Amino acid sequence: MVKRSVEKEIKNGDYGRYPKMKKRGSDKPVEEIVRELKKPVFRYGDYRERSLRIHGLVCAKCGREFDDSNRHLLTVHHKDGNHLNNPPDGSNWENLCIYCHDDEHSRDLLGAYFRNEEKDKPK
Ligand SMILES: [Zn+2]
Ligand SMILES: [Zn+2]
Repeated sequence: MVKRSVEKEIKNGDYGRYPKMKKRGSDKPVEEIVRELKKPVFRYGDYRERSLRIHGLVCAKCGREFDDSNRHLLTVHHKDGNHLNNPPDGSNWENLCIYCHDDEHSRDLLGAYFRNEEKDKPK
């Protein structure tokens, strides 16, 4: 009786150790996968050129047209706000001049600011 229970204890102890070691070993590949997912498919210069080619040298908001001499004033805006979402067909890109792009983002910030204000207000 006593012998049996000691054997059981040893077995249980081993059981507790093995899964832990297995888990530690499997952590590394997951980290690598996450790093792969975070890597942008296009670097900024790459998708900017592509977006300009797809949508043309014109601001999608104010309609201002640009040419090779001032194309640096055009920026690529991500419609869903996710800079890592770069479908090659350009469906998440919008060419905006730096003024409209600024406007687009400052309005986001202002909107969030006002929403927070409202939340903090005592009712
Ligand atoms: Zn514009
Ligand atoms: Zn943007």
